[in-house]
Amino acid sequence: MSTKVALVTGGARGIGLAIAQKFAASGFNVMVGDLGSTNSRWNYALSSAEDLAKVGSSTDTQIATCQLDVTQQQSCEDAVSHTLEKFGHLDVLVNNAGVVQSGPVETFSEQDWDQVFAVNSKGIFLMAKAALDALTVSTDAAIVNTASIAGKKGVRNMVAYCGSKFAAIGITQSLAIEFAPRNIRVNAICPGIVGTAMWLEHLLPSNESNESEKKRHFEDTVSKVIPLNRPQSAEDMADAALYLATARNITGVALTIAGGMEMN
Ligand code: NAD
Repeated sequence: MSTKVALVTGGARGIGLAIAQKFAASGFNVMVGDLGSTNSRWNYALSSAEDLAKVGSSTDTQIATCQLDVTQQQSCEDAVSHTLEKFGHLDVLVNNAGVVQSGPVETFSEQDWDQVFAVNSKGIFLMAKAALDALTVSTDAAIVNTASIAGKKGVRNMVAYCGSKFAAIGITQSLAIEFAPRNIRVNAICPGIVGTAMWLEHLLPSNESNESEKKRHFEDTVSKVIPLNRPQSAEDMADAALYLATARNITGVALTIAGGMEMN
């Protein structure tokens, strides 16, 4: 049997990188697509060319990379073409790219609303559309979308992010039904709180310059609101993504990984 192939969007760092590494360690060849450009203007730095260049595999299987902007149809089609050229086929699409912006409605700009939805919601549609033909010919196809617990319950000052993640779950369910006759399973993971750039550089920035102190401060703060009282890691999310990508009779599920913070 040939090696299975996964394409992971937003995989240059954070949860996406952990998913790419977990899939590679589990026998997949992996294409990581990410912005890889310092031109992206956002309220915290997104992945740079250096981040993308650093992505590699320490396993027998391979991790390759390509530049990808999930908000652009042509770029999505190119990422699928690069994957097929490099590895010959595609079995699993992980739509993980995401951005966050928070703030009260009075000061929240229309441009930021559009960008949050363009990446977190429309990006899933564009990538699914681009990958559909390739996934249809796979005998073991799956899509895993990274939604959020913010897609299950509203959060103050997170109008666009919550809206875009509720949409991600709705898109997941709709695609699960539409793609079932093609034997493509479609599920979502809903992370709780993971100490990536989204939190450390935007939602809960700290004045600490020491990285381990910054991490400790973050973990102390979030543990207080987590019933299991321990932080969640990017690897926890990767475990769930791999499970959903390989569970042959599960489709349309939005699986929460949040230490009990959210139970629906
Ligand atoms: P992150 O910022 O470290 O990673 C997000 C990645 O997406 C970055 O590499 C970024 O460059 C990439 N990206 C952004 N816009 C893109 C675009 N247009 N095209 C391609 N790539 C793009 O943050 P993370 O926490 O690892 O986020 C990964 C996913 O997990 C996101 O969908 C996020 O919404 C979701 N999530 C995160 C948390 C958390 O607590 N960190 C919780 C719930 C859900």
